[in-house]
Amino acid sequence: MVTLSEIKAFSKPLVANLSKLGIHNIQGLLLHLPLRYIDETHITAVRDLRAGVASQLEGEIVHAEVTYKPRKALIARLEDASGQLTLRFLHFYPSQIAALKVGSKLRVYGEVRSGYFGYEIVHPTCKAVGEKTAVAETLTPVYPTVAGLTQDSLRKAIAMALKQNALNETFPASIYQAFNFPSFADSLRDLHNPPPETDLHTLEEKTTPAWQRLAFDELLAQQLSMRKHYARRRSVNAPQFKSSKSLVSGLLKSLPFALTQAQQKVAVEIERDLMQPHPMQRLLQGDVGSGKTIVACMAALQSIESGWQVALMAPTEILAEQHYRKILGWLTPLNIQIAWLTGSQSKKDRTTTLESMASGRAQLVIGTHALFQEAVQFKNLGLAIIDEQHRFGVQQRLALRQKGQPEPHQLMMTATPIPRTLSMSYYADLDVSVIDELPPGRTPIVTKLVSDTRRDEILQRVRESCAQGNQAYWVCPLIEESEVLQLATANDTYALMQNEFPELNIGLVHGRMKSAEKQIVMAAFSAGDLQLLVATTVIEVGVDVPNASLMIIEHAERMGLSQLHQLRGRVGRGAAKSTCILLYQNKLSETARARLKVIYETSDGFAIAQADLNLRGPGEFLGVRQSGVPMLKIADLERDTLLLENAKALADRLLKEYPAEVERHLDRWMGSAGELVKV
Ligand code: ADP
Ligand code: MG
Repeated sequence: MVTLSEIKAFSKPLVANLSKLGIHNIQGLLLHLPLRYIDETHITAVRDLRAGVASQLEGEIVHAEVTYKPRKALIARLEDASGQLTLRFLHFYPSQIAALKVGSKLRVYGEVRSGYFGYEIVHPTCKAVGEKTAVAETLTPVYPTVAGLTQDSLRKAIAMALKQNALNETFPASIYQAFNFPSFADSLRDLHNPPPETDLHTLEEKTTPAWQRLAFDELLAQQLSMRKHYARRRSVNAPQFKSSKSLVSGLLKSLPFALTQAQQKVAVEIERDLMQPHPMQRLLQGDVGSGKTIVACMAALQSIESGWQVALMAPTEILAEQHYRKILGWLTPLNIQIAWLTGSQSKKDRTTTLESMASGRAQLVIGTHALFQEAVQFKNLGLAIIDEQHRFGVQQRLALRQKGQPEPHQLMMTATPIPRTLSMSYYADLDVSVIDELPPGRTPIVTKLVSDTRRDEILQRVRESCAQGNQAYWVCPLIEESEVLQLATANDTYALMQNEFPELNIGLVHGRMKSAEKQIVMAAFSAGDLQLLVATTVIEVGVDVPNASLMIIEHAERMGLSQLHQLRGRVGRGAAKSTCILLYQNKLSETARARLKVIYETSDGFAIAQADLNLRGPGEFLGVRQSGVPMLKIADLERDTLLLENAKALADRLLKEYPAEVERHLDRWMGSAGELVKV
């Protein structure tokens, strides 16, 4: 592919600036598409101006002055045959004063507004015109840029790129014609220089045929790349497990409950995957409380019975600890050796654990991200289970995968369901199992939205509930800006509660506590020795105390949707009717109101995730920065669902019939051109 420095007309500084924009070759430059457009294709007379409409005018400066009151400004009057208009500059250079002197003939562009002296434009773009200066023939593109690179230079560079003979199709034209798409070349020409009659609105909504064609290409690249990733996995070796003969049935017999249909279904899907000679990468989705842990244990036992070690990784120490205790109870009767590894262990404990892992004595190791650190060695890791996978970055998951030879199987679990569009795109390289049913006997959680002004009533409610033998959580407000403040708030709340409820045993957990301290508090709450637990959002994931049936969340308006859903899922785990009270501080912002409305109205994790996606967009939803998930530049999963479906349907056929063209397509879209990453 032609690099930019090979183009003679491109100066060194230009190439350097383009590189700052992530543009390194012709394809990248061609695919650097406008943010918006301005219409300089015709000239509007002053008489025909309308407030709020961006317009181009032409006329002569009849008055110009620099005023100092109320503040410094350069003010000029432009006159055409039909009237006058004010041009106002609040920041300006001497060169602009010179350009706007009386008698200058100018063409100006900008959004018109009603001012004190009739219409005016603030900070118009201006250029001097002669007798026969032509108007633009196409709409003028406005590109994303960096300091030092003007729109004009970018436009020129792109115009040059359009002439470089790099606009050929990656796939046979018939593929695109089947969808009635314009060609790649026409699409790019159209988007960089749209014909004057193009509707600005559809253009900016990216619903013109040209935009749609390119969005399709981008989605196609994403689908192809995911498929290839998927196919590569099929060509890599993994330990092949047998079906479990005794351990799994031993576990199931010991449980006080029977698996739900949904649990049985996903357990079979996982069991089959583990019998394949290729690494499983399966995402197990199930709403909070749907019972993913037991399913994970069944997979672990299958691995252990086949002679392979298992690692179970959780995102927080509290959760890892809880898994450890629970699983110890389940698996010790089956004579399974379980080890425990976290960052805050004593050196001696840690050494013992590391030895038992390396020697293979530990069959199952439960821990936090400490598990994938370098010093950690397994004898023969066959299965890595990752709980609350959305809390981990891609790198961490990859690191755990490299702890085994051949590549271990991976089971990822999440209670944050992934809306369909996302699972079709960003997660297309994973297999997905869904537990779509809660264990029986759970009563739905009642959610209440209560203004903070009614705090006294809520305290009374806590008092009564605990007096009846129930347990409650009091969740402290999230303070994102400062962990120190967060801690202070938790301590204050704890003191307040002790003062308010001298008759209750109250505990406190927060992220800054030592693991052992947390463990003592959680164990006491689990055992029912504490009636009220004051907690920060550290309890958001996984914590399971079935007798807790009341939760108060302070400043609920500060929390995200999935966070609220996760927190709320800490109650409603037993037979007792549970209540979650969301305290909010007036006055609510628009989005906070929208979030609280969703959480109030629905308890369906999938619906909540979809609403969250709509409110936040995929970037925020997926936490791109931490997950490293490649983002789409042109396509929008909500707007372009149909394109996504079509791209998905087409991808397999293209891989089979046009392997070389697929590579070309991926080079175009996943090289330096897009933000997509080629795998
Ligand atoms: P999550 O999917 O949120 O991780 P857990 O695995 O923690 O949920 O399960 C929630 C609770 O439900 C646990 O106490 C677990 O023992 C219990 N549980 C799991 N499966 C069943 C079932 N089929 N019937 C009754 N209780 C179950
Ligand atoms: Mg869980």
